[in-house]
Parts: sequence; C-alpha cells; structure tokens
Amino acid sequence: MRYMTLLSDGDGKTHQHLNEIQVYGKNVTIMKEECINHVAKRVGTGLRNVVQDWKKKGVTLGGKKRGSLKDETIKKLQNFYRKAITDNAPDVDKMKSSIFATLHHCMSTDKNPHHSKCPVGKNSWCFYQRALAKNQKPKSHSTMKTPLSNVVVEKIMPVYQRLASTEILNRCTSAKTQNQNESLHSVIWNKCPKEVFVSKSRLELAVTSAVSEFNFGCVTSLRLMSDCDDENISSLFIAIRKDHRREKQKCKRESEDFKNNRKSKKFKKLASDAQCLKSEGLTYGPGAF
Ligand SMILES: [Zn+2]
Repeated sequence: MRYMTLLSDGDGKTHQHLNEIQVYGKNVTIMKEECINHVAKRVGTGLRNVVQDWKKKGVTLGGKKRGSLKDETIKKLQNFYRKAITDNAPDVDKMKSSIFATLHHCMSTDKNPHHSKCPVGKNSWCFYQRALAKNQKPKSHSTMKTPLSNVVVEKIMPVYQRLASTEILNRCTSAKTQNQNESLHSVIWNKCPKEVFVSKSRLELAVTSAVSEFNFGCVTSLRLMSDCDDENISSLFIAIRKDHRREKQKCKRESEDFKNNRKSKKFKKLASDAQCLKSEGLTYGPGAF
C-alpha cells in the first residue's frame, strides 16, 4: 500500500470522494494534511468567538485595557501559533509545548514569570530566556507588547486545547500551506473572472491553460498549444515577457525584506483600522445597515 497526501483546508468531502473513486489506483491511500494557514485562522476565529460569547454573559475580554484580547493581540496569537508549528514540525510534542509556551510567555509578569517552556539560548524569541543566556537581568514585563491577563488566558484555554490537540497537530506535520493553490486560482480567475458567467467549455479552457502556464510557464504552454512550427512572433514575445515578469516577482516575494515589509504593513493597517473604528464607530458590517 502506498500513501499520498492531500493538502486541504478542511474539505472533508473531497478527500472522502477521492478515496472512494481511487483516483490513483487500488494500492494508493490518500491521507489528509491540513494547510497551516487555515488551521491558524481557526485560532483567530476561535478567539474572536470567545470574546463575543463572554460579552453576551457580561464579561469583557476585549477592550483597551492592558492584557485584554484586542484584535491586534488575536492576530499576533494566531501568528505565534503558526510559527510554533512551522518551527517544530514534524515533532508534534514539541509543536504542542511550543504553542502553550507562547500563552505562558504572554501571561507572565515581573512577579510571576512563566518562561520555563520558552526556548532557551541567545537566539530565543523570548526576551527573558535571551537575557538569562547572556547573564543579564531580564527587562521588565511591563514593556511586553502582547500581554495577556490571567482571566483572558483562562477563558481562551479551551480554544487552545482544541487546536493544539494531537489529532489536529498530527495533520500539520509537513507544515505546508495552500498558497500554491491560491496563486493557481488567481491565474484562473485572471483568465475567467469569477463574477462573469461563462460556458463550461470556456471555463475548462481557462483552467487547463492556467494549469499549463502555472506549471510550465507561458512560453512552453504556447508551444504546446500551437500545432504548427511557425508560431506567432508577437505572442511569443508576450509569453517571454510574462514568464520573465513572473520569475522576477517570485524572487522578490521570497526575500526576507519583502516578507517583513508585508507583515509590518499588515499590522499597521490593523492598528489604523482600530483607530478609525474608535473615532468613527462602526461604518460598515455585512448586513448591518
Ligand atoms: Zn518567555
């Protein structure tokens, strides 16, 4: 028996169907692997739900107070969770203890530091362990950027217990994302916009040519599609330019600078959105007005 992996975002039915029709033959079983971006998003959703649920019961977990569970904090916790998985994959036990370490780290205070689960050494992400490794006195916890109050940690613990369960982490051991899929989708939607109705044959043509361009590049796809040798020279030039542009874009997006830039832009936007919401109140919500 051979095993293949399907990287999915919780699409249970597709996985079941593929196994039923045995697409790769009788001797191949398809295993399910979760996309870590989608799993991490569940942390965000779970935490936001906790805030809403307790609000109904009259307990405020969000808000401006230090240690509260505001949107920015939720985004950060989501990132910490994701990083704990990618840094420790494929070791499920390490992933789990690293996820809980982020919580303990965030609830630490000068009086009650909880950094025993944080990674040790001079390169640790934990300022406390970093200082210990350098034989320095750790700086005060009041400067910590993502503090969590004990009440918040107590209330969000069930979400973490659910999403850091061995069962879920076992499906994240290759720490892969569906980004490749999403970018293939964007090539398809470029040829055939989602919001315009098209015939089935046109859709099929768009999907096959997008898959071909995505896998082999525009130049090869053009050659594969044209029957005769005398290709249209203008089409060839366009294809070369498109491939060149894609290659350049890929290199740029993989650079650390670009990634850091994107991250800081995201957090800046989140902060400015929160500021706008504070000064103007809710101006838009699906079905709200
Ligand atoms: Zn720590």
